[in-house]
Amino acid sequence: MAGETIIAPPRKVGMVSLGCPKALVDSERILTSLRSEGYQLSPDYAGADVVIVNTCGFLDSAKAESLEAIGEAIAENGRVVVTGCMGAEAASITARFPQVLAVTGPQQYEAVVGAVRRAAPMPPQPFVDLLPEAGLKLTPRHYSYLKISEGCNHRCAFCIIPSLRGDLDSRRPDAILREAEKLVAAGTKELLVISQDTSAYGRDLRHASFSTAGRREIRAHITDLAGELGQLGAWVRLHYIYPYAHVDELIPLMADGLILPYLDIPFQHASPSVLRAMRRPANEAKVLERIAAWRSMVPDIAIRSTFIAGFPGETEADFQLLLDWLDEAQLDRVGCFAYEPVAGAAANALPGALPLDVREDRRDRFMEKAAAISAAKLSKKVGLTLDVIIDEADGEGGATGRSKADAPEIDGKVLLRDAPDAKPGDILPVAIEDADAFDLYGAPA
Ligand code: SF4
Repeated sequence: MAGETIIAPPRKVGMVSLGCPKALVDSERILTSLRSEGYQLSPDYAGADVVIVNTCGFLDSAKAESLEAIGEAIAENGRVVVTGCMGAEAASITARFPQVLAVTGPQQYEAVVGAVRRAAPMPPQPFVDLLPEAGLKLTPRHYSYLKISEGCNHRCAFCIIPSLRGDLDSRRPDAILREAEKLVAAGTKELLVISQDTSAYGRDLRHASFSTAGRREIRAHITDLAGELGQLGAWVRLHYIYPYAHVDELIPLMADGLILPYLDIPFQHASPSVLRAMRRPANEAKVLERIAAWRSMVPDIAIRSTFIAGFPGETEADFQLLLDWLDEAQLDRVGCFAYEPVAGAAANALPGALPLDVREDRRDRFMEKAAAISAAKLSKKVGLTLDVIIDEADGEGGATGRSKADAPEIDGKVLLRDAPDAKPGDILPVAIEDADAFDLYGAPA
């Protein structure tokens, strides 16, 4: 028919995103870029013209999960592009899955987008959907991860992230603020600041100042950045903070209510000899004193951490020291992994590897103590009224949310009854009525 434009349907992309919040942010960037070119998302394998598998290669168990996901995507769809941390091992992936269309490494957004364009070229489109204001998000609309830097200057013996992602590479603070402002304007109520080493932010930029549109200059430093983010009207939660001396400067921002009273510090261990063998940054003896000082300034501060039990050379005495340290530190939230060798990590060459049953037994003993501490701390919250951000409403009057002490996915929840009006993203005062080892229960106050 003369004069009529035939519009071919847009190509659809499926995405399997594995790994940590940082990988999730990468997936969001890739999809935002593809969406801006007119691609649509497919929620299932069958409807996708091509499937991207964003892999995680941090632990051998994560690698196995990534390989399984690649195999499944090939079996279900057949047209697969692999990216992410495991992309750094392209040869082993293509040897195992010769059908894979392309393999790209972490943060190679352009390369992934290019591979998708080749695999499923978009037909010419006179009308391309407008991008949502804040880009495309895989997290619920009311909270967003904000990645402030990539890479890491440390060389912890168990970690291969620096070899996968390189040295610290901080984003400009004005660009971060712009992204945060857009997210808040689009409905984000909680910003989760992530990186490999959040407290080192801006070191590579020599903490230079940058001018922001219509705003005063901002220094590329976590204290300044957190202060600015705190003025946007959303909750601001900091993850992956190493306890460098200047972390003390963040505590007044919490006392002033600018950022959440929440510190996620991956301590990993407490025994000086194990920390030395791990080559941990900011490994200093006075951590317990500093925790006490932070708590005296912000009594409701929640400290979350992760630990490794059964690191090579860890003696029963080292482990006992860790348990005693935890008793004293009274951390609010902890995760613990039984040590697992990671291909390519320096720790594999250390003497004193421990059998799996010892590593797992120590992990279980650690988590038992952590659960008892958590239960005691949460029981003290019964009777208080806490602000709770709603994540989900069940449509029958119940809802699930989180207090300021709980990050999504990794911490506990607050389960609400009699909350028929609660909607995701609402922040409500909730009277806490009950508690167990990890979660709180209550009703709108
Ligand atoms: S600080 Fe250590 S564990 Fe964290 S990313 Fe850097 S090298 Fe890895």
